[in-house]
Amino acid sequence: MLKPILAANWKMNHGPTDARAFMRNFLAHYRRDNDRTVAFFPPSITLAAVQQALADRHEFVLGVQNIHHEASGAFTGEISAGMARDAGARLVLVGHSERRHVFGETDEQTALKCELVCKAGLVPMLCVGEKLEEREAGQTEQVVLRQLDAGISRLEPTNVATMLIAYEPVWAIGTGRTATPQDASAVHAAIRRHLRERIGERAAVLPILYGGSVNRGNARLLLAAPDVDGLLVGGASLDAGNWAAICQE
Ligand code: PGA
Repeated sequence: MLKPILAANWKMNHGPTDARAFMRNFLAHYRRDNDRTVAFFPPSITLAAVQQALADRHEFVLGVQNIHHEASGAFTGEISAGMARDAGARLVLVGHSERRHVFGETDEQTALKCELVCKAGLVPMLCVGEKLEEREAGQTEQVVLRQLDAGISRLEPTNVATMLIAYEPVWAIGTGRTATPQDASAVHAAIRRHLRERIGERAAVLPILYGGSVNRGNARLLLAAPDVDGLLVGGASLDAGNWAAICQE
């Protein structure tokens, strides 16, 4: 059994001042133990504040929500994988559904991003997930495995073996509609089977997180489902007490 990973995706919430208050509150509620990993994906501009607040707490891991798909250049408003590493990130979200469907990120760009993340010595958390119409058309596995194949297409097997995957059905993100533990398990198992063809038995220990309307009420059952190794949480990670409770489910 893998150590569960609980990851907070703050999206465009919590500037440095909010984040400092959040961390004081969170640390007051969070019972220190080592049986799970807690990760934070704050906005890049907030990373330093979160890092400072967690200074001596090595059970916490920091990440950024996005990087540019080129290593450097004149890209106003963007950050690179190297800059994310320099700022203290260890993880990078790649291919989140909002990046794909709001900002038009392509499979090819997710591939380039995963490659740059690994080259920078960081770990990608590749997000995959089908839209409602794709699920209803019976295309869930096909879509998810296409996104997976694209995301890992430029990686060496050793990099694939150390990355993280988040299965986030688009219809469940921010909608209050969660996949059932059985639905999540089925997709996670398909992802793992597929990865086994690429990296053999190392696929058995590659963390696959579920995301999409996770909350205090459903976190425990989702975490207990076979092949669900962690949770990627948006809305329910924004309140410190609530997030501390979810991390201890
Ligand atoms: P949600 O978002 O928990 O608010 O549904 C999850 C995500 O987008 O990562």
